[in-house]
Amino acid sequence: MGIKMEKRRTTDRRGWLMMPLRANVPDPGDGTWQLASCPECGRECWSRQLPEGFTEEMFEGRLCTMCALKAALW
Ligand SMILES: [Zn+2]
Repeated sequence: MGIKMEKRRTTDRRGWLMMPLRANVPDPGDGTWQLASCPECGRECWSRQLPEGFTEEMFEGRLCTMCALKAALW
């Protein structure tokens, strides 16, 4: 599919899946991105497909980039 993703160990279960804000990225980089809303702030953002071998259970959840950054600071 040609999606570039950072390498991540499959044993790593922490962290949030980041969804780029639509305000920052008006046009999705590829057709697999789906419009979603951040569960934290409700802003429109893009939900991206997980890389092969990863499941949602490996993460704490999905957040927009802003909320993910905030969550990382706490
Ligand atoms: Zn948010």
